[in-house]
Amino acid sequence: MSKSNIETAQALTAEALGLNGDEWEVERCEFDVAREELSVFLNFTGQRSTCGSCGRRECKVYDTQTAKQWRHLNFLHCRTMLRAASHRVSCPSCGVRAAQLPWARQRSSYTLGFEYFVARLLGANRLPLSAVASLVDEPYARIRRLAAHYGKPS
Ligand SMILES: [Zn+2]
Repeated sequence: MSKSNIETAQALTAEALGLNGDEWEVERCEFDVAREELSVFLNFTGQRSTCGSCGRRECKVYDTQTAKQWRHLNFLHCRTMLRAASHRVSCPSCGVRAAQLPWARQRSSYTLGFEYFVARLLGANRLPLSAVASLVDEPYARIRRLAAHYGKPS
C-alpha cells in the first residue's frame, strides 16, 4: 500500500471511530493473520483533554498511562481491538483524573459501539445472555456485567 493510501486508510479509520482529528490520530493498523485480529493503534496528540469525572473540557494533560486495549465491533468479520495509552488530566474541579475517551466509558474494556451493539442484541432483539456472549465471542460473565450496566435482566 502506498504512503498516501495508508494515510487515507488511517484518516477513514479515525473518521469511522468518530475521533477528533485534533486530539487523537490513528497511528497504524496491524492485522494478525493467525488470530484474525485487527489492531488499531491510537495516539493522543492534544495538549488538553476532557475530565472523565465531571466532563470539564480543556483540562491540561497531567500524564500518560500504560497502554490499554478495547474490544471494538468486528471489521470484515475480524475481531478488532483499539489500542492506546490513555492519559490523565489535571482538572481544576476534581484534581488529577482519567481523561474521558471518545470511544469508551471509564473502566470499560469495550468501545461504546461494541457496548451498544451488545445492548441492542439483548434489548431490541431479546437474545439470551448466553447467545449474545457466544455470538460476540466474549465470556458470559463479562457480557452479564455489561448487561447489568445497561439495565438488562440477566
Ligand atoms: Zn473534573
